[in-house]
Amino acid sequence: MLIQRATLLDGTVADIRVGARIDEVGEDLSALHGESVLYASGGTVLPGLHDHHVHLRSAASALDSFFLGPPGVSTKAQLTQMLSNATPGPDGWIRAVGYHESVAGELDRTALDALVPQVPVRIQHRSGALWILNSAALGRVGLAEHPDGRLRSADRGWSDALQRRETDLAELSRRITATGVTGVTDATPDLDADDMVSLLVAHRRGEFRPRLRFLSPGKKILQDDRLDLEALTQWIIDHHTDGRPVAVHCVTAAQLVVTIAALRAAGSHPLDRIEHAAVVPDDNLADLADLGVTVVTQPNFVVERGDQYLAEVPAAEHGQLWRVASLMNAMVPVALSTDMPFGHGDPWTAMRAAVHRTTPSGAILNVNECVPPLKALTMFLGRSDQPGRARTVETGQPGDLCVLTEPPATALAELEAGMVAATIIGGELVYFAM
Ligand SMILES: [Zn+2]
Repeated sequence: MLIQRATLLDGTVADIRVGARIDEVGEDLSALHGESVLYASGGTVLPGLHDHHVHLRSAASALDSFFLGPPGVSTKAQLTQMLSNATPGPDGWIRAVGYHESVAGELDRTALDALVPQVPVRIQHRSGALWILNSAALGRVGLAEHPDGRLRSADRGWSDALQRRETDLAELSRRITATGVTGVTDATPDLDADDMVSLLVAHRRGEFRPRLRFLSPGKKILQDDRLDLEALTQWIIDHHTDGRPVAVHCVTAAQLVVTIAALRAAGSHPLDRIEHAAVVPDDNLADLADLGVTVVTQPNFVVERGDQYLAEVPAAEHGQLWRVASLMNAMVPVALSTDMPFGHGDPWTAMRAAVHRTTPSGAILNVNECVPPLKALTMFLGRSDQPGRARTVETGQPGDLCVLTEPPATALAELEAGMVAATIIGGELVYFAM
């Protein structure tokens, strides 16, 4: 297809011929026989965004789940009301996500039974690591005798007992491409072969359009109470020996320090990644730069949970939270992502968070970590295999583009998903705003 009168991020006005790759960028290109034309009328044309850390199955399931956490649900009364009015899904279950103890304390089966005695209910903790089931639900998964109904997501036994819920990947695909995203990296650890295959099949059938990349099996989650430097080092060596980079999930300073030590001992691969890097002490900035490891982070959590951090994290450590600018200044490659559905899935919200870092109450968390709009945007344009290296609109680059209604100055000032006019993957129009 031919895109006419596009403005590139550097202000150049050009026409773009795009197929599987960008074939031509020039002035006054005319349409070939049978070629479709999209008139951009001076709007910005960017490489399609890549969301470098998402969880697709969970995101698809979350589309028809209730959200039971702050800011929408923040008191016990609101929780009670939501659950008593909830209608079960087609599988007969009530499924809810986003729970946090600040709503009504640590939930267990007894507390849930008091709210919903008959219908099976399962509620996922905001961290994604824990589910709480009521007695009706425990009976369905063969755990009627379970002491408290609090089950770890990683224990596959009980979740395999659940009927695999039909998830609507096509609807998820539509929502993702409507934000200008043309590729995603699924960061789910230990993704099983069935899940991976079903996503790939949905992609091939055209139900799920964005390009797909998986971090599993080279992705590891760490727990503060089970940090084992030797085991982590060996795990990294094993992956590198097989020619695979690793991605390690680090949300505390302890996890980061152990990961840095393990990478030093094992030696780093140029494509190794640290996911989240939610807490980075000053001393570790140079370590990360030294190792050449890419940080894939989510400043959107500042906007979603910032007030909680300000209340719960000691003031002396606020400067270590969800860094972006200081990582870039230290020459650490950085990319942004949403962590959908645990973070809000709109990448433009995440960009605005990187620029403003405003918490729900209006405070600014870590003003020194704010980055200019162009940097925030560029951190969503990285290659899927090298998130810190941005793609460009040039001949030979993949034919994945995002067309905005506005020229660059306005687009950068607003950073709004509502400006996405069209999304193109491999030269095919996959989203067009009517
Ligand atoms: Zn994640």
